Amino acid sequence: MDRSQRVAVLPPDVSRRIAAGEVIERPASVVRELIDNSLDADADEIDISWSGGGAETLRVRDNGLGLSREDLELCWQPHATSKIRTIDDLETTKSLGFRGEALSSIAAVSTMSIASAERDAPQGYRLTVDRGEFPSVEPAPPTAGTIVEVRQLFANLPARRRFLSRPQAETTAIRNTIRDKAMPFPGVRFTAQSENGTKTTYQKEQIVTRVSSVYGSIAPVQSLHEIEGTGDGFSLTIVAAEPHIVRRDRRYIRTFVNKRRVWEFQLTQAIEYAYQDVQHGGLYPIAALFLEIDPHLVDFNIHPAKREVRIRPAGEVHHRIVELLRSFLRAYTIRSVQFDGEFPEKTFNTPSPSTSNDYYRDRPRDRSVPQNDGMSTFDRGETHRKKISPLPAQRSAEKPPFQPSVRAVPSDDLTYIGTIFETYIVVQRDERVYIIDQHAAHERLLYNHLQNERSTQPLLVAEEFDTTEDQDNALRQHEEEYRKIGIKLVRIADRRWRIDAIPPEYTIPIETLIETILDLTGLNEQLDRIFLAELACKAAVKGGDFVDGLTATELARRTLALEVPRCPHGRPLWVELTRQRLETLIGRV
Ligand code: ADP
Ligand code: MG
Repeated sequence: MDRSQRVAVLPPDVSRRIAAGEVIERPASVVRELIDNSLDADADEIDISWSGGGAETLRVRDNGLGLSREDLELCWQPHATSKIRTIDDLETTKSLGFRGEALSSIAAVSTMSIASAERDAPQGYRLTVDRGEFPSVEPAPPTAGTIVEVRQLFANLPARRRFLSRPQAETTAIRNTIRDKAMPFPGVRFTAQSENGTKTTYQKEQIVTRVSSVYGSIAPVQSLHEIEGTGDGFSLTIVAAEPHIVRRDRRYIRTFVNKRRVWEFQLTQAIEYAYQDVQHGGLYPIAALFLEIDPHLVDFNIHPAKREVRIRPAGEVHHRIVELLRSFLRAYTIRSVQFDGEFPEKTFNTPSPSTSNDYYRDRPRDRSVPQNDGMSTFDRGETHRKKISPLPAQRSAEKPPFQPSVRAVPSDDLTYIGTIFETYIVVQRDERVYIIDQHAAHERLLYNHLQNERSTQPLLVAEEFDTTEDQDNALRQHEEEYRKIGIKLVRIADRRWRIDAIPPEYTIPIETLIETILDLTGLNEQLDRIFLAELACKAAVKGGDFVDGLTATELARRTLALEVPRCPHGRPLWVELTRQRLETLIGRV
């Protein structure tokens, strides 16, 4: 055997560098660890600056408790920590660090200096360590807190250094780390600056403003709300955006446990689940969730970077999140549609262009299905090809002729005043006038209706259609999901399918149905919800479509009776104008 193949214990400087590489992967990990230390030292001002993507120099200054001379001598040694003393402390510690490995890891792979002074001490000290060697502690002028400087990261690990991304990408990673650290600490002022970038400042602020500052213009502060609640051994703060502000991905749903960002599916899922009442699948809310939980009830040690977490009362936490958000959404949706004083700007807020409310409606309205016989949908006479009526459950055969004037059509206690801009139905009830978006309202009613429909009925004439290769594959995957919502699809040949049965109350043209099915073949999540939302949108009357007075009144009556008066995209369905409000606006009172 070659001598070099014998087992040997690695020399300490080698093993230390290997271990260091696990804690410190890139400059952003240094930033994460140093910010944690500053926060653990009770700092409320933390300044971070760097150059060369953080690999050249990186500096974190804080106004925390500081280190004594003895602390400085010890702090960079492996397993040196002030935060726990015994193994039992691990169970109760709320500090962000406790393993005592950050400074030793950083010191092993860089040139590190720490200048620090304890509060009110007349004298400060500076520690320098060069790649784990030549430590020295010298007197230095007192500082208000601690300044850690890390230079030439990975200079002694050339392979690791080569694996770093371009400075610009490392800078982005650093900024993302700072955002994740800043969000749960609104009482701490952070500044961040790279050598030629602009300086970012997060002032000391309230949690709602901090979430808005971190998320940026996508989440303006006036659209965010703070919701609080408690449970057994835990408390929750959720900062949630109004439901009409939607995203197409989960990037703006962040979750924190004991002020650490975690990637925990259960928590994110609870938020999405609560919003499903007002936003259909495929759209995601903006929210930040902060769970504070008894350290006994949580285990961070399952993941080395503490990204994942095991929460013991996971079910209770989930339940509480859903409950809190639902009552917020309910209260909000009802309050915000009342146009009388407190929330008008919210009621009429035009969503910022970056939001994707018009996900569906932006699509061209009249994409026609490829038709084999050239006949329009409207011309086809079969029973299952009826054009959808505005109100599927109570279709009335004899509709009165349209009355273009402002003429009242009574229904219950509602009076139909007219339709304005060919889109908004105006009705009056006592001292209140309601202005209802006919498309959004109809879409919501249809959506609710379709959701409750689970029965199925064979079509008189089964409908066949061709697909592309991709659609063919996707349909084979989704067949079962469609069956669950009452749509029976049969594959009759390569890239040819037949639709055999649909729920009896689908009065949607079969082409619209097929078109919707084919449109959604790229999806692999929440297919049923998205399908129904898409179908409701396509089948609903559009803005500009003529709706007769009787139908409009019925539409209004049912819309006003809805518990959640929001369209599936989260927008309000109606606004209310009271006599009193009108008189205030006019200046009568
Ligand atoms: P840990 O944070 O896990 O204890 P570190 O290696 O990150 O381990 O830090 C070692 C010790 O150095 C800490 O326990 C703390 O006592 C001290 N320390 C580090 N950074 C600071 C700081 N910015 N202010 C005050 N003390 C600090
Ligand atoms: Mg630490």
